[in-house]
Formats: sequence, structure tokens, C-alpha cells
Amino acid sequence: MKKQDRITIIVPCYNEEETIPIFVEEMNKIYTRMKKKYDIQMEYLFVDDGSKDNTLEVMKETAENNPHVSFISFSRNFGKEAAMFAGLENADGNYVVIMDVDLQDPPELVEQMYHEIKNSHYDCIASRRVDRKGESPIRSFFAKMFYKIIRKISKINIMPGARDFRMMTRQMVDSIVSLREYNRFSKGIFQWVGFETKWLNFENRNRVAGTTKWSFWGLLVYAIEGVIAFSTAPLALSSIIGIVFCVIALIMVVIFFVRAMIWGDPVSGWPSLACIICFTAGIQLFCNGITGLYLSKTYSEVKGRPQYIIKTKHQCQKNNSKDSDES
Ligand code: UDP
Ligand code: MG
Repeated sequence: MKKQDRITIIVPCYNEEETIPIFVEEMNKIYTRMKKKYDIQMEYLFVDDGSKDNTLEVMKETAENNPHVSFISFSRNFGKEAAMFAGLENADGNYVVIMDVDLQDPPELVEQMYHEIKNSHYDCIASRRVDRKGESPIRSFFAKMFYKIIRKISKINIMPGARDFRMMTRQMVDSIVSLREYNRFSKGIFQWVGFETKWLNFENRNRVAGTTKWSFWGLLVYAIEGVIAFSTAPLALSSIIGIVFCVIALIMVVIFFVRAMIWGDPVSGWPSLACIICFTAGIQLFCNGITGLYLSKTYSEVKGRPQYIIKTKHQCQKNNSKDSDES
């Protein structure tokens, strides 16, 4: 007998009391449609990332009314990366999807992803936005810059506009979970583990309710973490800057020596000297900072703290018979 496929949908949530019911309603429509075509069972695994609003209560209520809902609630906000990791560690479906709760990830693509993954050799069907409509121009500009830079300086090839929204095989999920690093940058990890990925394009959508949890500063820190996690180019850059400044200094020594020999050495030029000292000190601090960033990341890795701490957990009913599946 052919085994029924179980799809686990991981949904990280931070202050999403308004969006969860809308998400469940939309996804249930997709699930009902998919069940008519395929022999599947779908489970939603919500991860409450230490929300400060009623997200957990809404999850509890949803789980009471829907036998396909599981949830995990963190003791505090650990960030989306930790929420995704917790989801991946706790998901037991043979196909696993990661999806935002705000419906910016089109739910109808889940059906297409399942169709593609079943009927092809791909291990991952991922999604990418082909535009950034509705996003602020400054944010779009920096996002584009970030992708350009990280593609140049790291070995991994992150697709521009790539979302975390994707369906993966159990084998790929197990590989991702086997990477235990503390400073996680999932977009890089998805690429790093290898396997074959097919990309589905879609046009950007706005949030269905609530507001984005990412500030400009938050995104900048995330971008720096991405670079540090997947490239050591900034360290090399600081060495190169050091070498360039040594060469400039040597040339200056020669020039000033020759000049002093020919025209003597009047005490002048101290303002320019002060500028040079300030400038080189600045460069030195900048390079120290780069080294410090890597050191701090190493420090947090060495401490080996857990990615997240679970406060409450609810596991949905497993192995529901096909008839009792309601959605
Ligand atoms: N999220 C999370 N923890 C956080 C921030 C965000 O779990 O610390 C979740 C959030 O609830 C949503 C997803 O990550 O489901 C994407 O967040 P958001 O929509 O705010 O980001 P954007 O789409 O604006 O990049
Ligand atoms: Mg969003």
C-alpha cells in the first residue's frame, strides 16, 4: 500500500494574533483542495516566538478547533531564525514547508510545490519574489545591494529575492537540522546543504494584517550576520587595507626623506600629519572591529547555548484516519 504523505507547515509567529485565523482559513481551503487530489495529511506547526500579544491564546484556540494544529511557544523572543529551527527540529512530516503567517507567501504555491516535489527529482521547491512592490525604496535598494555583495564574497549562491518559503524533503530537513551552528542564516544554510532546488517565482504581496517585525536596523544586523556566517572576505579585506596603508607609508617615507635632503626639514605640515594619524587610527579600529565581529560570533558558538527555550508545547493528533480528517 502506498504510504500517505504527511506535510508539516512550519509557521513562525511573533505578535501575530490578527493574522493566525486568516492564515488558517486560507490554508484550510488549500488543504481541502489538495486532499481531493492527493492522499496527504497536513499539519500546521505554529511557533510562537515569545509574542507579547495574544498569539499564544489564539494558537491554543486554533488547536482546540483544528486537529491538525500543533504549536510550540518560546520562553521569550529568540528571532525568526530560532523559530524556523525549532520548527524544523520538531516537524515530523515527510515533506516540510516553512511559511510566514502574514500570507505574503502565497498559500496556493503549496499545492504547486507538492506537485513539483512529487513529480520531479528536486529535494526542495523554493520561492522567490520577482519584484518588491509595496516595499520602501530604501529597503529594496539595500536588500539588492546585500544580495549582490554576498553572492560576490561567499561561495554560496543566494538567489535574489529568495524567501524562506519552501517545501523540502525529509532528507534535506534532516541535513539542515544537523547543522548546529548558533548564528543561523537560513538562506545560506539552505544553499550550503546542497540538494537540488527548483525556484517558483511570484509577485510580492502585502501583509494581510499586522505590521512587519523587521526594522531597518534589524535587517542590517541580519545582513551582517549573513556575511559573517558565510564569508571570511571582510577579514581578508582588513588585511588588504593594512597592506595598502603600509605601502603608502613606505612611499611617504621615501618622499619625505628625499624632500628633507633637498630642501631641509622645516617644522611644518603638522595639520596634515594629524589628519593622517586620525585616518589611519580609524582604519585600524575599523579592521579591529571586523576581527572583533568574527571573534564575537566564535564566542557565541563556543558557549553552545540552545537556539531557543520552549515554555509550552502542543502536539496535534497523529495518524488521523482519512475519514476523520476535517479541514
Ligand atoms: N517572526 C518571528 N520572530 C521574529 C520576527 C518575525 O517569528 O522575531 C515571524 C513573523 O511573525 C512572520 C515572519 O517571521 O510570520 C516574517 O516576519 P515579517 O512579516 O515581520 O517580515 P517581512 O515579511 O516584513 O520581512
Ligand atoms: Mg511578512
